[in-house]
Amino acid sequence: MDHILSGIKPTGQLTLGNYIGAIKNFARVQNEGEAFLFIADLHALTLPIEPADLNKNSRDIAAYYLAAGLDPKKATIFLQSDVPAHSELAIILQNYLYMGELSRMTQFKDKSSKMKEEAIGLGLFAYPVLMAADIVIYDSKRIPVGEDQTQHVELARDLVKRFNNRYGDVLVMPKAEVAKVGKRIMSLSDPTKKMSKSDPKGDIYLSDDINVMRKKIMSAVTDMEAHVHYDPEKQPGISNLMTIMSALTDKSFEDIEKEFEGKGYGDFKRAVADCVVAEMEPYKAHYEEIVKSGLVDKVLEDGAAKASVIANATLARVQKAVGLYNKK
Ligand code: ATP
Ligand code: MG
Repeated sequence: MDHILSGIKPTGQLTLGNYIGAIKNFARVQNEGEAFLFIADLHALTLPIEPADLNKNSRDIAAYYLAAGLDPKKATIFLQSDVPAHSELAIILQNYLYMGELSRMTQFKDKSSKMKEEAIGLGLFAYPVLMAADIVIYDSKRIPVGEDQTQHVELARDLVKRFNNRYGDVLVMPKAEVAKVGKRIMSLSDPTKKMSKSDPKGDIYLSDDINVMRKKIMSAVTDMEAHVHYDPEKQPGISNLMTIMSALTDKSFEDIEKEFEGKGYGDFKRAVADCVVAEMEPYKAHYEEIVKSGLVDKVLEDGAAKASVIANATLARVQKAVGLYNKK
């Protein structure tokens, strides 16, 4: 069975982009292989965050995973920081990724461009090293992610090639998988920008009240073209709403165009809002049940124990390969 790995970092409240681009796919992939679905809490420290927020966001992601149907009997659900081997492996792997390639990463450029140079932590720069460790430590072949993370997976592939050329067949080659529809949900207020939990403009939060979600969709930025047509260049706002609808209903863009031929944007937005509500109402109710059940802590504890067995074995294999003395 292929090993499958993905995660979300607890930097803020989860968005509809995280749901469509990541969480919704997790429930499917857990049936297709051995899935390791984690909460990247160490990655959340790469930008300033309040300790209480980090704590709450981490437990929240676990609850949203379970609410989406992730089954701890199938998938291994855990906190990155509960498996110290990730960090130990990253310390070794950092020697096989280079300053030039790390400085070309879009995420680093985006996130650091808003900061003063003196305030950019080394962790933000070295983020892809830890992410490569997260990936290779579970011998993961399949990495389901949104489009924005594919560059980091490519870098992990370069690392694996480089490492294996030097030391033999030690690491498994990963590959990013992006969904056909929904790989990049855009901000509702600026549809040329990705919806991101750390940039609250134009986000729909999973924690938003259903009526707030509805209102946000009704006031999403559109255009003057006055027809529902998929064209991300010319009609980014409408195309984004079509993507949301398509990802949640499996309707094709052509079907949606036909359905709304001759109709106004008001009707279309109402229909998009209905789709979002139909998906989110039961999901949010399920999330509330999970939170009340107190299940989360036990799931994370068991997940970390299970993950550690494989992670420790990979770490030992790498330690031995590079020549660290006396490693079994
Ligand atoms: P941050 O602003 O902190 O980077 P984020 O919303 O981008 O937060 P991440 O934790 O970086 O979330 O990513 C978690 C997963 O969600 C990744 O697989 C990522 O590709 C996916 N994802 C994030 N934003 C979107 C989006 N707008 N559309 C589709 N997928 C997304
Ligand atoms: Mg991100």
